[in-house]
Amino acid sequence: MVTLSETERQIIESSIRDIKDFPKEGIVFKDITTLLNNKEAYGVLMNHLYERYKEYDLDYIAGIDARGFIFGAALAQMLHLGFVPIRKKGKLPYTTISEKYALEYGVDEIEVHIDAFGKKKGARVLVIDDLIATGGTANAAATLVNQTGAKCVECCFVIGLSFLEGIEKLKEKTEVYSLIEVH
Ligand code: AMP
Repeated sequence: MVTLSETERQIIESSIRDIKDFPKEGIVFKDITTLLNNKEAYGVLMNHLYERYKEYDLDYIAGIDARGFIFGAALAQMLHLGFVPIRKKGKLPYTTISEKYALEYGVDEIEVHIDAFGKKKGARVLVIDDLIATGGTANAAATLVNQTGAKCVECCFVIGLSFLEGIEKLKEKTEVYSLIEVH
């Protein structure tokens, strides 16, 4: 199993910018745009993901709307795999299945094309997003992947807010890997 070295972890972690009280008071927003425009940090991250997941015998990478698309699409190309977007409700043009999940106030919904993972039963899928907080979004994404007949083999995040217990809840459903854990 390929794990992140301390040097790699520091390069990635120091490239992520904390924005206090965004989008509202009390939230520390993890801004990954400063990781993406830093070619060393972005390169270290993508190389690490490539080294880890090349052994997983994956069929598809599924990225969560919208920042999961950036890492997921790049990784899919590196691994010579197809990429599948899991989108917010109402954005995908063909037949979809959707899943609702709870937000702090209210609900949100994500969806995927019904045929996104091809005809092969049990296609092996990695779900990727920039960050896991409560885990609601990723849980819904893993559920959707499994409902299509494919299999979510792991959910991967650049950042895990481990003080929120989202990671622990998601581990009941699938394997979870987060590179940078915020305690
Ligand atoms: P959750 O469903 O609570 O795990 O929220 C995860 C989603 O919300 C991800 O798509 C993140 O991009 C976004 N998100 C939640 N909290 C933050 C945060 N503190 N900084 C940046 N993005 C966040």
